[in-house]
Amino acid sequence: MQKKTDTARKLRPATAMVHGGTTRSSFGETSEALFLTQGFVYPSAEAAEARFRGDEPGFIYSRYGNPTTRMFEERMMALEGAEDARATASGMAAVAAAMQCQVKAGDHVVAARALFGSCRYVVETVLDRCGVACTLVDGRDLDAWRAAVRPETKVFFMETPTNPTLEVIDITAVAEIAHAAGATLVVDNVFATPMLQRPLELGADVVVYSATKHIDGQGRCLGGIILSSAAWIDENLHNYFRHTGPSLSPFNAWTLLKGLETLPLRVAQQTRSAARIADTLAEHGKVNKVIYPGRADHPDAAIIARQMTGGSTLLAFEVAGGKEAAFRFSNALEIILISNNLGDAKSLITHPATTTHKNLTPEARTELGISDGLLRLSIGLEDVDDLLEDIEGALSAV
Ligand SMILES: *Cc1c(COP(=O)(O)O)cnc(C)c1O
Repeated sequence: MQKKTDTARKLRPATAMVHGGTTRSSFGETSEALFLTQGFVYPSAEAAEARFRGDEPGFIYSRYGNPTTRMFEERMMALEGAEDARATASGMAAVAAAMQCQVKAGDHVVAARALFGSCRYVVETVLDRCGVACTLVDGRDLDAWRAAVRPETKVFFMETPTNPTLEVIDITAVAEIAHAAGATLVVDNVFATPMLQRPLELGADVVVYSATKHIDGQGRCLGGIILSSAAWIDENLHNYFRHTGPSLSPFNAWTLLKGLETLPLRVAQQTRSAARIADTLAEHGKVNKVIYPGRADHPDAAIIARQMTGGSTLLAFEVAGGKEAAFRFSNALEIILISNNLGDAKSLITHPATTTHKNLTPEARTELGISDGLLRLSIGLEDVDDLLEDIEGALSAV
C-alpha cells in the first residue's frame, strides 16, 4: 500500500493558504497559473473516450472543472478539512446549489430565520416553487428545530453568526438534531470565515461560503464554494453542478487564490480592530447597545467560547435616536464607507433596516432585532486609531 507522506500532512492554516492545492504546469511557475480556457484537447479518440468514461483523470470542460478553479477548491479543502469542494460563481450560487441538489418535490427543509436576504428567498420562495416546504425557526431555540422536524425533512440550513445582528447558533447541537432526523446540516460560514469557525469539525455536513467577502477581501470579484465529504459531493452535487453550470470563472478563482494567501493575516488584524472598536462603542453615551461575538456581554458567549476562535470582523450597534441618528452618523463618517458589502479591506457601514433587510415586514425586522437605529459595521484594514477617530467624530454629529 502506498503510504501518504508530506502532501497529506496537515499544514497549519497560514501555510496551507500560501501553498495548499498548488499544481504547477511544466514551466514550474512560482505563482498559480491562470488557465483561461473553456475546453481541453485529447491526444487521441481513445483518450477522450477514457476521460468521458471516468477511467482516466483529467479535465473535460471548464463548466465541470478547470485547473485554476481546482487549485482554489483544493486550497479551501485544506483549510476546511473537507474531502471535496465545488467553487461557484457567487455565494448565492453556492447556497442555491447546495440546497437544490439534495431535495425533490415533497421534501421539507428547516432553516434558521435570521438569514441573509437572498438565502431566505432561496429557502422560502425558490424551494417552495419546486414543491419543497420550508419551516423557519429561531435558530437559537433548539426545541424549535426539534419541533419543526417532519418525516420528510431532508435539510437543515443556518448561518452563524447571523446577519446583521450577530446571533450565534450552536452548530454541534443543531447537527445532532439534524442527524437524529436523518437530515443534513448546511452551514453558511461567511460571517465567521474559515479562520474563526470550522463547521465541518463541529458536526455540519456541508459548509458554504460567499468568497466575495473575506476570501477575496479586497472588493474585486464574486465567488462562492461548497465543501463537504467526497461521498456527499458524489451523491448530491457532482451531476447537479455539471449540468446546471454555477461554475466559477477561472479568472475569479485565480483572484481568490491570491486572496487566500493573506486571509489569515487580514482576518486576524480585522478581528483585533473590531474588538477594540466594539469596546469603545460600548462605553459611548450615544450608543444603546453593541453586539460583538468577542465580548463577554454577548448573549451567546458560552456557545461562542466553544465554537469560535475569535469574535469576527463585524459588529452591530444601535445609536440612540433611531433612523435619523443612524443616518446622521453614517453621513458624518469620513473614512468608513456606506456600503452593503462586508469582509473588505475597506471598513464599511450598513443600515440594515433600509437596505439589506428592507424587504422584511416591520414585524419580521423586530423579531430579528433589526431596529431603525441598528448599524452593521464591517471592519477593514485601516489603522484602528483612524477608525476610532472617525467613529468618535461621527458620534459627536449625532
Ligand atoms: C454575501 C452573502 C451571501 C451571498 O454571497 P454573494 O457572493 O453575494 O452571492 C450569502 N450568505 C451570506 C451570509 C452573505 O453575507
